[in-house]
Amino acid sequence: MSEVPQTNKRVAVVTGGARGIGRAIVEELRDQGCFVIFLDYAISEEAISFANANAIGYDKLDVTDANAVSAMIDKIVAEHGAIDVLVNNAGITRDGLLLRMSEADWDAVLNTNLKGVFNVTKAAIRPMMSQKRGKIINIASVVALTGNAGQANYSASKAGVIGFTKSVAKEIASRGITVNAIAPGFIETDMTAKLNDAQRAAMLTLVPMKRPGTPKDVARAVGFLASEAADYITGQVIVVDGGMTM
Ligand code: NDP
Repeated sequence: MSEVPQTNKRVAVVTGGARGIGRAIVEELRDQGCFVIFLDYAISEEAISFANANAIGYDKLDVTDANAVSAMIDKIVAEHGAIDVLVNNAGITRDGLLLRMSEADWDAVLNTNLKGVFNVTKAAIRPMMSQKRGKIINIASVVALTGNAGQANYSASKAGVIGFTKSVAKEIASRGITVNAIAPGFIETDMTAKLNDAQRAAMLTLVPMKRPGTPKDVARAVGFLASEAADYITGQVIVVDGGMTM
């Protein structure tokens, strides 16, 4: 783990923050004045250089490992005194039509995208409840709302994230903790770089704004939900998709 200073800043934890949308969220929350820690399955040399150059904390974590998650959250609270913002961003795809989808591909996606959110949120709400404050932001997807052929596992996991968000929001609203979700549309990252030109073109025909989203487009919405401007907003899903699903 990185050497991290004790500061008076709000502490923000971002899963899967080493690259893609997560990296942009890390930068956005840093720019808002948070001390940010990203937790990632694998952390590249480039991610370590980025963290060191920007006074950002990081550590290796597999969000599917409940014991490791619990120990990590305890460690962060012991070192920094609080977790003010949690962004559940880590996610994977294992696309394929249902007829050919293996049980392993179903389990991998549900374990990472849904059980991972359960693991990290469950561990983080205990300190947040003691603090009587906290903002939890879960990264879902528009396919949770629309479905998508070839993504039964992924869309089920993200629909689960939305149901989870609303249920937990109701459970802990009275403790001063908000829980919201963002549903991004077609965002340019490594995840969507797997699409071929025909798939990209087909996706873009569905976007009224006629461009893919950027990680920053998503990060700005996260920044809003993490800020005091969103203090009275909970249990909501903000769609960031250039109009794709309206
Ligand atoms: P990327 O594939 O670019 O990045 C995903 C990140 O999650 C990586 O840093 C990866 O770590 C991390 N991760 C994966 N599994 C685990 C795990 N078990 N434990 C900890 N970290 C893990 O994806 P995006 O940036 O595109 O996506 C970020 C989020 O946004 C995801 O939840 C995704 O489902 C969602 N989303 C993305 C959209 C898009 O169009 N890109 C659209 C809608 C939603 P590592 O580097 O080690 O693999």
